[in-house]
Amino acid sequence: MSDRLREKLNILADAAKYDVSCSSSGSNRRNTNKGLGDANGAGICHTYTEDGRCVSLLKILLTNHCIYDCAFCVSRKSNDVKRAAFTVEEVVELTMGFYRRNYIEGLFLSSGIFKNADYTMERLVRIVKKLRLEHRFNGYIHLKTIPGASEELLTEAGLYADRMSINLEMPTEAGLKLLAPDKSHEEVKKPLGFIRGSIERLQDERKVIRSTPKFVPAGQSTQMVIGATPESDMEIMYSADQYYRNFDLKRVYYSGYIPISHDTRMPVIGTQPPLLRENRLYQTDWLMRFYGFDVKELLNPANPHLDVDIDPKLSWALRNLDQFPVDVNTADYRMILRIPGVGVGSANKIVMARKFGRLRSDQLRKLGISWNRAKHFIRCADSVMQLTEPEAFRIKYEILTESQSKYLKVPQNQLSLFG
Ligand code: SF4
Repeated sequence: MSDRLREKLNILADAAKYDVSCSSSGSNRRNTNKGLGDANGAGICHTYTEDGRCVSLLKILLTNHCIYDCAFCVSRKSNDVKRAAFTVEEVVELTMGFYRRNYIEGLFLSSGIFKNADYTMERLVRIVKKLRLEHRFNGYIHLKTIPGASEELLTEAGLYADRMSINLEMPTEAGLKLLAPDKSHEEVKKPLGFIRGSIERLQDERKVIRSTPKFVPAGQSTQMVIGATPESDMEIMYSADQYYRNFDLKRVYYSGYIPISHDTRMPVIGTQPPLLRENRLYQTDWLMRFYGFDVKELLNPANPHLDVDIDPKLSWALRNLDQFPVDVNTADYRMILRIPGVGVGSANKIVMARKFGRLRSDQLRKLGISWNRAKHFIRCADSVMQLTEPEAFRIKYEILTESQSKYLKVPQNQLSLFG
């Protein structure tokens, strides 16, 4: 690799690290036509940076030049950083070279905006097309959609990429206007809606004509920056919920803002990135997608912020003690899933195991539930009768005292700017 290419790689891989939406789940592209690699059952190799962020091994920007000046972004035009841009051929060469050496299993390609949206998107499309058609590369490709790009280019991109994503940037329109007045959520909704429509249309056509090409087989995702603007957790998760519903997104990623600017509208440089908050938002997201919770149960005007010291499921249970204890021998699956300390796997095991007899506490412990949490919310065959009503603060205290959570040690100063 030439020195210049190595230098570009350093600059453009470093600039890409702020984008966390790099999961490769959901694609089943197979190796065809004696090509190279496949995206089946594997994903992009991930690595973890010191601050806990997940980074894929070939996660790059096409360029960090940008005509926009979004205050939260390291590539903004007013930022005095080294700029670089790959050529189409260079990205293809790097991807193939790293893949052959087994360094990566896919490509995550994003970009700042050169000149205009179409000019940039056209280059991104040329890269994926070249990889797929000329190099018969069947590995995973996650491509960023450039807001404002034409529908023709989006259609072409969708035929070659596994996943496409477009960043919402700030959770609310007001937050976006504050830090990036030239941008709007409408610019994001339009391509998300177009790609969703195309995915559905081609899926329907495929049922009739088997040879209909796959279109964005791993679906779409988006990312929000958390903690740069003063939205509450409720505003963030209500926004995520809307995007899941309206655009059938596979994932919403929450990226804690890392202060990179002296702009007084945002947390000062040196402020801790809100990693614990990011984690709580992911937990809430998980509860909405896999545990049957409605976002309004977890966050509402009376509880607009997630608890920092306990997870959102435990927090919900403590606010709703009237729904507990749950008798694991008779309750429906939905309610078993709501017991703190019981995950999807252990809820399934409970439902299976109770077919063979009433479950006791020693058996429940063996099913993989987190007993120090669950015991406060469960009734089983050998439960003793409680003479007093359980109190939320006592349960919380007991659980926290027994807990080994690494997060309790994380300083909680990420939102100090907004008091
Ligand atoms: S358009 Fe994207 S790359 Fe450009 S400054 Fe805004 S966030 Fe950064």
